[in-house]
Amino acid sequence: MKFNTKTIHGGQEHDPAYGAVMPPIYQTSTYAQTTPGGHKGFEYSRTHNPTRTALENALASIENGTFGLAFASGLAAIDAVIKLLKPGDEVISTNDLYGGTYRLFTKIFEDFGVKFHFVGMKNADKVAGYVNDNTKLIWIETPTNPMMNIIDIKAIAEVSKKHKLLLAVDNTFATPYLQRPLDLGADIVMHSATKYIGGHSDLVMGALIVKDKHIAEKLYFIQNASGAVCGPQDSFLALRGIKTLHIRMQRHCENGEAIAKYLKNHPKIEKVYWPGFEDHPNHDIAKAQMNGFGGMISFVPKGSDYNSAIKIVENLKIFTLAESLGGVESLAGHPASMTHASIPKEEREKTGVVDSLIRLSVGIEDVDDLIEDLEQAMG
Ligand SMILES: *Cc1c(COP(=O)(O)O)cnc(C)c1O
Repeated sequence: MKFNTKTIHGGQEHDPAYGAVMPPIYQTSTYAQTTPGGHKGFEYSRTHNPTRTALENALASIENGTFGLAFASGLAAIDAVIKLLKPGDEVISTNDLYGGTYRLFTKIFEDFGVKFHFVGMKNADKVAGYVNDNTKLIWIETPTNPMMNIIDIKAIAEVSKKHKLLLAVDNTFATPYLQRPLDLGADIVMHSATKYIGGHSDLVMGALIVKDKHIAEKLYFIQNASGAVCGPQDSFLALRGIKTLHIRMQRHCENGEAIAKYLKNHPKIEKVYWPGFEDHPNHDIAKAQMNGFGGMISFVPKGSDYNSAIKIVENLKIFTLAESLGGVESLAGHPASMTHASIPKEEREKTGVVDSLIRLSVGIEDVDDLIEDLEQAMG
């Protein structure tokens, strides 16, 4: 089955009770048993819920995995992955992570004795130099947030296989429409399904997808034991979102390209970060491992600072000033004061997240209206 068909049918069965085409929202915590243990595969909704199971099967299908797990948020999904580790274990991670991931690693898990190394990974060869006997996991994001750095998943997977580590890829920005890390050798794919997977800015959810049964069993154990699961209503919404993922992404990519090029040619713009440009670092790798370049763009207006960048995002009328990304509506953000405020200024600036950086999540509106909006906002 090809990708566009999988988004609609992958892993799905019509509801056995009445043939409902969409899985019903099983709004129940528990399930009747005929005798202790005599049930139809569902006992308690933290462990399993039929609507969540339908979503988990769809997630596994679109990422070319075998097992899917849905969580209450993207961070809950990451939390479950790090709980595979023990005190003393070490993680090699990218150095321009999503701010919340950085906070979870440094402010929660370091206290539990897990050690994190934050490393620039534009050059995959460097990563092997950080591996030692305690290393258990490599954690990457590509494209990264918000600098759109591209990491060579296949090359990192070779390092991770050679040293018998796990490789986890946060695939939130790319989505499986653009990039399928399991096919490139990753062990675990993670999503903030809050973003493109849900696609309509109406839910908060996380997901993990794996191929290996042994890893899946451990993660299902953690999902049930720690309990950060999503509810049936949100599972239904995410499933509904997945069904249009391919057409939404197609338009996000088209609009993203038009806006990236408009900004690049604009006399008031200093720098534009979008992986589709030939002079973007690792553009060739992006071209090889992705089926398109997405709708996420960051840029720096010429001669701007903290306050003038904020002024521009305040002036926008169609782009909404908001955290988050990946919905049908266009959003603009100011990483230094919003998504990346939890990262110290010196750390931020080392990776390019300067005070004047603006991040766009280009939606699927008419692109002419979006360009007109940017033009008026820059004055
Ligand atoms: C939003 C986001 C997360 C965290 O997901 P939540 O659903 O907000 O918990 C992790 N990684 C990336 C790249 C994100 O954009």
